Amino acid sequence: MKKVIYPGTFDPVTFGHIDIIKRAAELFDSVQVTVAINPSKKPLFTVEERVDLLKKSLKGFNKVSVDSFDGLVVDHAHKVGATGIIRGLRAVSDFEYEFQMALMNRKLAEDITTIFLMPHEKYTYLNSSIVRNLASFQSDVKDFVPRVVKEALQNKYPR
Ligand code: ADP
Repeated sequence: MKKVIYPGTFDPVTFGHIDIIKRAAELFDSVQVTVAINPSKKPLFTVEERVDLLKKSLKGFNKVSVDSFDGLVVDHAHKVGATGIIRGLRAVSDFEYEFQMALMNRKLAEDITTIFLMPHEKYTYLNSSIVRNLASFQSDVKDFVPRVVKEALQNKYPR
């Protein structure tokens, strides 16, 4: 059984993330989406909220599970029995950081391979921080995030 993890901040999950998750689920037997507990970042949503929004957004995806992790991605991959790390590549601007991370992770754990997937081009300009910004200005984000996420954003930024 080929299992991969898809780590990220997911603050909050967007249709870009979900596009990557669908592609990964077509290629692998099991995809574990895993929310990074990163104390140096100041996310809008708590870890529990991000996990909950992912779970609600991914209902009906039967090969996909959601959890969170603290520490190194490769340690988490070993712990859950995954042999690959999925990352999304939108543009050249993602490349340098992702390349560095992938090589460092390979140095730390040679048995774990990073796999890059590209989303549909309509999601290449999309990221969580743009969505948070739009929502903070009461702009409609329905084209970018599932309905539960849109509602959660409205609760964070009430009119
Ligand atoms: P991180 O802080 O780890 O970059 P993110 O939640 O921003 O966490 O992203 C997780 C992964 O999803 C990263 O590999 C990122 O490049 C990818 N990603 C984010 N938004 C998109 C998108 N719109 N299309 C494809 N991949 C994306």
